[in-house]
Amino acid sequence: MAKLNPFEIAGRQLSECAKILKLDSGVREILRIPMREFHISLPIRMDDGSVKVFQGFRVQYNDARGPTKGGIRFHPDETIDTVRALAAWMTWKCALLDLPLGGAKGGIICNPKQMSKGELERLSRAYINRVWQLIGPDRDIPAPDVYTNPQIMGWMMDEYSKIVGKNQFGVITGKPLSIGGSAGRGDATARGGMYTVREAAKECSVDLKEATVAIQGYGNAGYNAAYLAKTLFGSKIIAVSDSKGGIFSKEGIEPEVVHEYKAKTGSVINFPDAESISNEEILEIEVDILVPAALENVITEENAPNIKAKILAELANGPTTPEADDILCKNGVHVLPDFLCNAGGVTVSYFEMVQNFNMDYWDEKEVHERLNKKMTSAYDSVLNTSKEYSINMRQAAYVVAVERVVEAMELRGWI
Ligand code: NAD
Repeated sequence: MAKLNPFEIAGRQLSECAKILKLDSGVREILRIPMREFHISLPIRMDDGSVKVFQGFRVQYNDARGPTKGGIRFHPDETIDTVRALAAWMTWKCALLDLPLGGAKGGIICNPKQMSKGELERLSRAYINRVWQLIGPDRDIPAPDVYTNPQIMGWMMDEYSKIVGKNQFGVITGKPLSIGGSAGRGDATARGGMYTVREAAKECSVDLKEATVAIQGYGNAGYNAAYLAKTLFGSKIIAVSDSKGGIFSKEGIEPEVVHEYKAKTGSVINFPDAESISNEEILEIEVDILVPAALENVITEENAPNIKAKILAELANGPTTPEADDILCKNGVHVLPDFLCNAGGVTVSYFEMVQNFNMDYWDEKEVHERLNKKMTSAYDSVLNTSKEYSINMRQAAYVVAVERVVEAMELRGWI
Protein backbone atom coordinates (compact mmCIF):
# COMPACT_ATOMS: atom_id res chain seq x y z
CA MET A 1 0.00 0.00 0.00
CA ALA A 2 1.31 3.48 -0.89
CA LYS A 3 2.33 5.48 2.19
CA LEU A 4 -0.55 7.74 3.21
CA ASN A 5 0.21 11.44 3.30
CA PRO A 6 -0.80 12.85 6.72
CA PHE A 7 -1.20 16.38 5.34
CA GLU A 8 -3.68 15.14 2.74
CA ILE A 9 -5.55 13.37 5.51
CA ALA A 10 -5.56 16.54 7.65
CA GLY A 11 -6.89 18.43 4.59
CA ARG A 12 -9.68 15.91 4.04
CA GLN A 13 -10.72 16.07 7.68
CA LEU A 14 -10.78 19.85 7.50
CA SER A 15 -12.88 19.83 4.27
CA GLU A 16 -15.45 17.62 5.96
CA CYS A 17 -15.66 20.07 8.83
CA ALA A 18 -15.84 23.06 6.44
CA LYS A 19 -18.86 21.43 4.79
CA ILE A 20 -20.59 20.90 8.14
CA LEU A 21 -19.91 24.54 9.11
CA LYS A 22 -20.67 25.80 5.57
CA LEU A 23 -17.45 27.85 5.53
CA ASP A 24 -16.82 29.94 2.44
CA SER A 25 -13.99 29.04 0.10
CA GLY A 26 -11.64 31.87 1.19
CA VAL A 27 -11.84 30.83 4.83
CA ARG A 28 -11.24 27.18 3.85
CA GLU A 29 -8.15 28.22 1.90
CA ILE A 30 -6.67 30.14 4.86
CA LEU A 31 -7.28 27.17 7.14
CA ARG A 32 -5.88 24.62 4.69
CA ILE A 33 -2.43 26.16 4.11
CA PRO A 34 0.30 26.79 6.72
CA MET A 35 0.89 30.46 7.46
CA ARG A 36 4.70 30.07 7.39
CA GLU A 37 7.28 27.29 7.14
CA PHE A 38 11.06 27.00 7.25
CA HIS A 39 13.31 24.35 5.69
CA ILE A 40 16.74 24.39 7.26
CA SER A 41 20.03 22.56 6.87
CA LEU A 42 22.07 21.76 9.96
CA PRO A 43 25.79 20.96 9.49
CA ILE A 44 26.99 19.01 12.54
CA ARG A 45 30.50 17.92 13.52
CA MET A 46 30.14 14.22 14.32
CA ASP A 47 32.24 12.50 16.98
CA ASP A 48 34.49 10.89 14.34
CA GLY A 49 35.45 14.34 13.01
CA SER A 50 33.28 14.21 9.86
CA VAL A 51 30.61 16.82 9.06
CA LYS A 52 27.07 15.61 8.42
CA VAL A 53 24.29 17.89 7.17
CA PHE A 54 20.84 17.20 8.64
CA GLN A 55 17.57 18.57 7.28
CA GLY A 56 15.05 20.24 9.57
CA PHE A 57 11.66 21.96 9.42
CA ARG A 58 9.45 24.29 11.40
CA VAL A 59 5.87 24.95 10.31
CA GLN A 60 3.82 27.72 11.93
CA TYR A 61 0.31 26.90 10.86
CA ASN A 62 -2.11 29.50 12.20
CA ASP A 63 -1.66 32.12 14.94
CA ALA A 64 -5.12 33.72 14.96
CA ARG A 65 -5.68 32.72 18.61
CA GLY A 66 -2.16 33.45 19.90
CA PRO A 67 1.53 32.52 19.51
CA THR A 68 2.01 29.18 17.80
CA LYS A 69 2.99 26.11 19.78
CA GLY A 70 4.06 22.58 18.92
CA GLY A 71 6.68 19.90 19.46
CA ILE A 72 9.93 19.07 17.66
CA ARG A 73 10.44 15.49 16.47
CA PHE A 74 13.74 13.77 15.75
CA HIS A 75 12.89 10.93 13.38
CA PRO A 76 14.58 9.22 10.39
CA ASP A 77 11.28 9.18 8.40
CA GLU A 78 10.30 12.80 9.10
CA THR A 79 8.77 14.61 6.13
CA ILE A 80 7.58 18.16 5.61
CA ASP A 81 4.03 16.90 5.03
CA THR A 82 4.02 15.08 8.36
CA VAL A 83 5.18 18.27 10.06
CA ARG A 84 2.50 20.30 8.23
CA ALA A 85 -0.22 17.88 9.29
CA LEU A 86 0.99 17.90 12.88
CA ALA A 87 1.08 21.72 12.86
CA ALA A 88 -2.53 21.79 11.62
CA TRP A 89 -3.59 19.34 14.35
CA MET A 90 -1.80 21.51 16.95
CA THR A 91 -3.89 24.48 15.79
CA TRP A 92 -7.12 22.53 16.30
CA LYS A 93 -5.86 21.02 19.55
CA CYS A 94 -5.02 24.35 21.18
CA ALA A 95 -8.38 25.77 20.06
CA LEU A 96 -10.30 22.73 21.29
CA LEU A 97 -8.71 23.04 24.74
CA ASP A 98 -9.43 26.76 24.60
CA LEU A 99 -5.76 27.68 25.07
CA PRO A 100 -4.71 31.16 23.87
CA LEU A 101 -2.33 29.62 21.32
CA GLY A 102 -2.04 28.74 17.64
CA GLY A 103 -0.43 25.63 16.16
CA ALA A 104 3.08 24.75 14.93
CA LYS A 105 5.38 21.74 14.63
CA GLY A 106 9.05 21.05 13.93
CA GLY A 107 11.23 18.14 13.00
CA ILE A 108 14.72 16.99 12.09
CA ILE A 109 15.42 14.01 9.85
CA CYS A 110 17.85 12.02 11.99
CA ASN A 111 18.15 8.80 13.91
CA PRO A 112 18.79 9.82 17.53
CA LYS A 113 19.27 6.16 18.51
CA GLN A 114 22.48 6.14 16.47
CA MET A 115 23.81 9.46 17.80
CA SER A 116 25.93 10.21 20.86
CA LYS A 117 24.83 12.66 23.55
CA GLY A 118 27.32 15.23 22.25
CA GLU A 119 26.06 14.91 18.67
CA LEU A 120 22.45 15.31 19.84
CA GLU A 121 23.36 18.41 21.84
CA ARG A 122 25.13 20.00 18.85
CA LEU A 123 22.13 19.18 16.62
CA SER A 124 19.64 20.63 19.12
CA ARG A 125 21.64 23.85 19.49
CA ALA A 126 22.09 24.12 15.70
CA TYR A 127 18.32 23.90 15.20
CA ILE A 128 17.78 26.89 17.51
CA ASN A 129 20.59 28.80 15.79
CA ARG A 130 18.70 28.47 12.51
CA VAL A 131 15.20 29.36 13.76
CA TRP A 132 15.73 31.66 16.74
CA GLN A 133 14.60 34.86 14.98
CA LEU A 134 11.23 33.30 14.23
CA ILE A 135 10.44 31.68 17.57
CA GLY A 136 10.10 33.16 21.07
CA PRO A 137 7.75 33.22 24.07
CA ASP A 138 5.32 35.53 22.24
CA ARG A 139 5.88 34.08 18.73
CA ASP A 140 6.27 30.31 18.64
CA ILE A 141 7.04 27.99 21.54
CA PRO A 142 8.44 24.50 20.77
CA ALA A 143 8.16 21.41 23.02
CA PRO A 144 9.20 17.74 23.01
CA ASP A 145 7.67 15.10 20.74
CA VAL A 146 8.80 11.77 19.30
CA TYR A 147 12.42 11.01 20.31
CA THR A 148 13.01 14.42 21.91
CA ASN A 149 13.03 14.86 25.70
CA PRO A 150 13.44 17.37 28.58
CA GLN A 151 17.26 17.37 28.22
CA ILE A 152 16.96 18.38 24.55
CA MET A 153 14.47 21.12 25.54
CA GLY A 154 16.97 22.30 28.19
CA TRP A 155 19.77 22.63 25.59
CA MET A 156 17.43 24.44 23.20
CA MET A 157 16.23 26.89 25.86
CA ASP A 158 19.86 27.52 26.86
CA GLU A 159 20.91 28.18 23.26
CA TYR A 160 18.05 30.63 22.71
CA SER A 161 18.78 32.38 26.03
CA LYS A 162 22.47 32.75 25.07
CA ILE A 163 21.59 34.24 21.68
CA VAL A 164 19.12 36.81 23.05
CA GLY A 165 21.34 37.55 26.06
CA LYS A 166 18.90 36.76 28.88
CA ASN A 167 17.19 33.78 30.47
CA GLN A 168 14.09 32.99 28.42
CA PHE A 169 12.55 29.96 30.10
CA GLY A 170 9.23 30.63 28.34
CA VAL A 171 10.67 29.99 24.84
CA ILE A 172 10.26 26.23 25.12
CA THR A 173 8.25 23.84 27.27
CA GLY A 174 8.82 20.30 28.51
CA LYS A 175 12.05 21.47 30.20
CA PRO A 176 13.60 19.72 33.21
CA LEU A 177 12.00 20.85 36.51
CA SER A 178 15.09 22.63 37.80
CA ILE A 179 15.24 24.94 34.76
CA GLY A 180 11.64 26.10 34.52
CA GLY A 181 9.77 22.87 33.83
CA SER A 182 6.31 22.27 35.24
CA ALA A 183 5.37 19.65 37.79
CA GLY A 184 3.17 17.08 36.08
CA ARG A 185 4.54 17.63 32.53
CA GLY A 186 6.21 14.19 32.28
CA ASP A 187 3.00 12.17 32.17
CA ALA A 188 0.64 14.98 31.10
CA THR A 189 -0.21 13.60 27.65
CA ALA A 190 -1.14 10.18 28.99
CA ARG A 191 -2.89 11.59 32.07
CA GLY A 192 -5.01 13.95 29.96
CA GLY A 193 -5.83 11.00 27.71
CA MET A 194 -6.86 8.90 30.69
CA TYR A 195 -9.17 11.69 31.92
CA THR A 196 -10.95 11.53 28.55
CA VAL A 197 -11.04 7.71 28.75
CA ARG A 198 -12.71 8.04 32.17
CA GLU A 199 -15.42 10.28 30.65
CA ALA A 200 -15.81 8.01 27.60
CA ALA A 201 -16.20 4.98 29.87
CA LYS A 202 -19.20 6.67 31.53
CA GLU A 203 -20.73 7.35 28.10
CA CYS A 204 -20.09 3.77 26.91
CA SER A 205 -20.95 2.07 30.23
CA VAL A 206 -17.50 0.48 30.49
CA ASP A 207 -16.46 -0.46 34.04
CA LEU A 208 -12.84 0.67 34.12
CA LYS A 209 -12.00 -1.56 37.11
CA GLU A 210 -12.84 -4.58 34.98
CA ALA A 211 -11.56 -3.17 31.68
CA THR A 212 -8.70 -4.56 29.57
CA VAL A 213 -6.25 -2.27 27.76
CA ALA A 214 -3.84 -2.73 24.82
CA ILE A 215 -1.24 -0.09 23.97
CA GLN A 216 0.81 0.24 20.78
CA GLY A 217 3.99 2.24 21.51
CA TYR A 218 5.73 2.14 24.88
CA GLY A 219 7.45 5.53 25.06
CA ASN A 220 6.42 8.58 27.04
CA ALA A 221 2.74 8.47 26.04
CA GLY A 222 2.31 4.69 25.92
CA TYR A 223 4.10 3.73 29.12
CA ASN A 224 2.43 6.45 31.19
CA ALA A 225 -0.96 5.47 29.77
CA ALA A 226 -0.35 1.89 30.89
CA TYR A 227 0.79 2.98 34.34
CA LEU A 228 -2.12 5.42 34.84
CA ALA A 229 -4.81 3.07 33.50
CA LYS A 230 -3.65 0.60 36.11
CA THR A 231 -3.10 2.97 39.03
CA LEU A 232 -6.01 5.40 38.46
CA PHE A 233 -8.66 2.90 37.35
CA GLY A 234 -7.39 -0.58 38.23
CA SER A 235 -7.68 -1.64 34.56
CA LYS A 236 -5.71 -4.66 33.29
CA ILE A 237 -3.00 -4.00 30.67
CA ILE A 238 -2.99 -7.13 28.52
CA ALA A 239 -0.73 -6.09 25.62
CA VAL A 240 1.92 -3.49 24.84
CA SER A 241 4.37 -3.02 21.98
CA ASP A 242 7.21 -0.86 20.66
CA SER A 243 9.00 -0.51 17.34
CA LYS A 244 10.53 -4.00 17.67
CA GLY A 245 7.28 -5.88 18.44
CA GLY A 246 4.89 -6.56 21.29
CA ILE A 247 3.95 -8.76 24.25
CA PHE A 248 0.61 -10.20 25.37
CA SER A 249 -0.50 -11.65 28.70
CA LYS A 250 -4.11 -12.61 29.51
CA GLU A 251 -3.33 -12.16 33.23
CA GLY A 252 -2.07 -8.63 32.63
CA ILE A 253 1.39 -7.09 32.78
CA GLU A 254 2.91 -4.80 35.42
CA PRO A 255 3.61 -1.55 33.52
CA GLU A 256 6.53 -0.48 35.71
CA VAL A 257 8.25 -3.87 35.53
CA VAL A 258 7.97 -3.89 31.72
CA HIS A 259 9.24 -0.30 31.68
CA GLU A 260 12.33 -1.29 33.66
CA TYR A 261 12.84 -4.31 31.39
CA LYS A 262 12.64 -2.07 28.29
CA ALA A 263 15.11 0.38 29.87
CA LYS A 264 17.58 -2.52 30.33
CA THR A 265 17.08 -4.39 27.05
CA GLY A 266 15.97 -1.61 24.69
CA SER A 267 12.56 -3.17 23.97
CA VAL A 268 9.50 -4.83 25.50
CA ILE A 269 9.98 -7.93 23.31
CA ASN A 270 10.88 -11.25 24.93
CA PHE A 271 9.56 -10.06 28.29
CA PRO A 272 9.40 -13.20 30.49
CA ASP A 273 5.98 -14.84 31.06
CA ALA A 274 4.32 -13.10 28.12
CA GLU A 275 3.54 -14.22 24.57
CA SER A 276 4.85 -12.37 21.52
CA ILE A 277 2.42 -10.30 19.48
CA SER A 278 3.07 -8.20 16.39
CA ASN A 279 2.32 -4.49 16.01
CA GLU A 280 -0.47 -5.40 13.60
CA GLU A 281 -2.02 -8.04 15.87
CA ILE A 282 -2.07 -5.80 18.93
CA LEU A 283 -4.62 -3.51 17.26
CA GLU A 284 -7.06 -6.35 16.62
CA ILE A 285 -7.13 -8.19 19.93
CA GLU A 286 -10.24 -8.55 22.10
CA VAL A 287 -9.90 -5.59 24.44
CA ASP A 288 -12.06 -2.81 25.94
CA ILE A 289 -9.66 0.09 25.42
CA LEU A 290 -7.16 0.32 22.57
CA VAL A 291 -4.49 3.00 22.75
CA PRO A 292 -2.38 3.71 19.65
CA ALA A 293 0.57 5.63 21.12
CA ALA A 294 3.23 5.39 18.40
CA LEU A 295 2.97 6.76 14.86
CA GLU A 296 0.47 7.79 12.14
CA ASN A 297 -1.78 5.72 9.88
CA VAL A 298 -1.76 2.44 11.77
CA ILE A 299 -5.54 2.01 11.67
CA THR A 300 -6.66 1.78 8.05
CA GLU A 301 -9.64 0.49 6.07
CA GLU A 302 -7.90 -2.91 6.05
CA ASN A 303 -7.71 -3.49 9.80
CA ALA A 304 -10.52 -1.19 11.06
CA PRO A 305 -13.23 -3.87 10.52
CA ASN A 306 -11.25 -6.16 12.87
CA ILE A 307 -10.95 -3.69 15.73
CA LYS A 308 -12.90 -5.02 18.71
CA ALA A 309 -12.20 -2.28 21.27
CA LYS A 310 -15.14 -0.29 22.68
CA ILE A 311 -13.01 2.84 23.17
CA LEU A 312 -10.18 3.92 20.87
CA ALA A 313 -8.00 6.42 22.73
CA GLU A 314 -5.73 8.09 20.18
CA LEU A 315 -2.69 9.19 22.13
CA ALA A 316 -0.62 9.13 18.92
CA ASN A 317 -1.17 11.86 16.36
CA GLY A 318 -3.03 10.76 13.23
CA PRO A 319 -3.21 7.01 13.91
CA THR A 320 -6.52 6.55 12.02
CA THR A 321 -7.19 7.17 8.32
CA PRO A 322 -10.51 8.77 7.22
CA GLU A 323 -11.69 5.50 5.63
CA ALA A 324 -10.99 3.67 8.88
CA ASP A 325 -12.87 6.37 10.78
CA ASP A 326 -16.07 5.66 8.85
CA ILE A 327 -15.77 1.94 9.57
CA LEU A 328 -15.11 2.48 13.29
CA CYS A 329 -18.07 4.85 13.51
CA LYS A 330 -20.38 2.29 11.80
CA ASN A 331 -19.13 -0.41 14.17
CA GLY A 332 -19.91 1.74 17.22
CA VAL A 333 -16.33 2.23 18.42
CA HIS A 334 -16.19 5.34 20.63
CA VAL A 335 -13.21 7.23 19.18
CA LEU A 336 -11.34 9.77 21.30
CA PRO A 337 -9.75 11.74 18.45
CA ASP A 338 -6.05 12.52 18.69
CA PHE A 339 -6.26 16.24 19.18
CA LEU A 340 -8.67 15.74 22.09
CA CYS A 341 -7.13 12.61 23.62
CA ASN A 342 -3.47 13.68 23.52
CA ALA A 343 -4.06 17.35 24.39
CA GLY A 344 -2.85 16.93 27.98
CA GLY A 345 0.74 17.51 26.86
CA VAL A 346 0.15 20.89 25.30
CA THR A 347 -2.22 21.88 28.11
CA VAL A 348 0.46 21.36 30.77
CA SER A 349 2.98 22.96 28.39
CA TYR A 350 0.72 26.00 28.42
CA PHE A 351 0.63 25.82 32.24
CA GLU A 352 4.46 25.72 32.12
CA MET A 353 4.53 28.93 30.06
CA VAL A 354 2.14 30.64 32.47
CA GLN A 355 4.33 29.62 35.44
CA ASN A 356 7.49 30.80 33.61
CA PHE A 357 5.93 34.22 32.88
CA ASN A 358 4.69 34.64 36.46
CA MET A 359 7.81 33.11 38.11
CA ASP A 360 5.35 31.28 40.33
CA TYR A 361 5.35 27.47 40.32
CA TRP A 362 2.42 25.14 41.11
CA ASP A 363 2.58 21.76 42.83
CA GLU A 364 1.64 18.55 41.04
CA LYS A 365 -1.81 18.37 42.66
CA GLU A 366 -2.72 21.80 41.30
CA VAL A 367 -1.48 20.88 37.82
CA HIS A 368 -3.55 17.67 37.87
CA GLU A 369 -6.69 19.50 39.01
CA ARG A 370 -6.35 22.16 36.32
CA LEU A 371 -5.63 19.53 33.66
CA ASN A 372 -8.62 17.46 34.75
CA LYS A 373 -10.89 20.50 34.43
CA LYS A 374 -9.60 21.38 30.94
CA MET A 375 -9.76 17.82 29.57
CA THR A 376 -13.20 17.09 31.00
CA SER A 377 -14.61 20.32 29.62
CA ALA A 378 -13.09 19.64 26.15
CA TYR A 379 -14.51 16.09 26.15
CA ASP A 380 -17.97 17.40 27.12
CA SER A 381 -17.98 20.01 24.36
CA VAL A 382 -16.97 17.39 21.76
CA LEU A 383 -19.57 14.88 22.98
CA ASN A 384 -22.35 17.51 23.08
CA THR A 385 -21.43 18.80 19.60
CA SER A 386 -21.38 15.25 18.25
CA LYS A 387 -24.92 14.73 19.58
CA GLU A 388 -26.16 18.16 18.47
CA TYR A 389 -24.97 17.78 14.84
CA SER A 390 -25.30 13.94 14.69
CA ILE A 391 -21.64 13.64 13.66
CA ASN A 392 -18.81 11.44 14.93
CA MET A 393 -16.43 12.48 17.71
CA ARG A 394 -13.62 13.50 15.32
CA GLN A 395 -15.92 15.65 13.22
CA ALA A 396 -17.29 17.18 16.43
CA ALA A 397 -13.78 17.99 17.71
CA TYR A 398 -13.08 19.71 14.38
CA VAL A 399 -16.32 21.69 14.55
CA VAL A 400 -15.57 23.02 18.06
CA ALA A 401 -11.94 23.87 17.22
CA VAL A 402 -12.40 25.32 13.74
CA GLU A 403 -15.34 27.49 14.87
CA ARG A 404 -13.05 29.03 17.51
CA VAL A 405 -10.21 29.68 15.05
CA VAL A 406 -12.62 31.18 12.50
CA GLU A 407 -14.14 33.42 15.18
CA ALA A 408 -10.65 34.73 16.06
CA MET A 409 -9.86 35.35 12.36
CA GLU A 410 -13.13 37.22 11.95
CA LEU A 411 -12.59 39.37 15.05
CA ARG A 412 -9.06 40.20 13.87
CA GLY A 413 -10.44 41.28 10.52
CA TRP A 414 -8.64 38.59 8.48
CA ILE A 415 -11.83 37.49 6.75
P1 NAD B 1 8.39 8.34 22.37
O1 NAD B 1 9.53 8.56 21.47
O2 NAD B 1 8.58 8.53 23.83
O3 NAD B 1 7.85 6.85 22.15
C1 NAD B 1 7.46 6.35 20.91
C2 NAD B 1 7.20 4.84 21.10
O4 NAD B 1 6.66 4.32 19.89
C3 NAD B 1 8.47 4.04 21.39
O5 NAD B 1 8.17 3.02 22.34
C4 NAD B 1 8.79 3.38 20.05
O6 NAD B 1 9.50 2.16 20.17
C5 NAD B 1 7.39 3.14 19.53
N1 NAD B 1 7.33 2.96 18.08
C6 NAD B 1 8.03 3.62 17.12
N2 NAD B 1 7.70 3.12 15.90
C7 NAD B 1 6.78 2.15 16.12
C8 NAD B 1 6.06 1.28 15.29
N3 NAD B 1 6.22 1.31 13.96
N4 NAD B 1 5.18 0.41 15.87
C9 NAD B 1 5.03 0.38 17.20
N5 NAD B 1 5.67 1.18 18.05
C10 NAD B 1 6.55 2.05 17.51
O7 NAD B 1 7.21 9.25 21.80
P2 NAD B 1 5.93 9.77 22.55
O8 NAD B 1 6.22 11.11 23.08
O9 NAD B 1 5.41 8.70 23.46
O10 NAD B 1 4.92 9.96 21.32
C11 NAD B 1 4.12 8.89 20.83
C12 NAD B 1 2.95 9.48 20.04
O11 NAD B 1 2.23 10.36 20.89
C13 NAD B 1 3.36 10.31 18.81
O12 NAD B 1 2.38 10.17 17.80
C14 NAD B 1 3.32 11.74 19.34
O13 NAD B 1 3.14 12.69 18.30
C15 NAD B 1 2.14 11.64 20.27
N6 NAD B 1 2.12 12.69 21.27
C16 NAD B 1 3.08 12.77 22.24
C17 NAD B 1 3.02 13.82 23.17
C18 NAD B 1 4.01 13.91 24.29
O14 NAD B 1 3.85 14.84 25.12
N7 NAD B 1 4.95 13.02 24.46
C19 NAD B 1 2.01 14.77 23.07
C20 NAD B 1 1.04 14.64 22.08
C21 NAD B 1 1.12 13.60 21.17
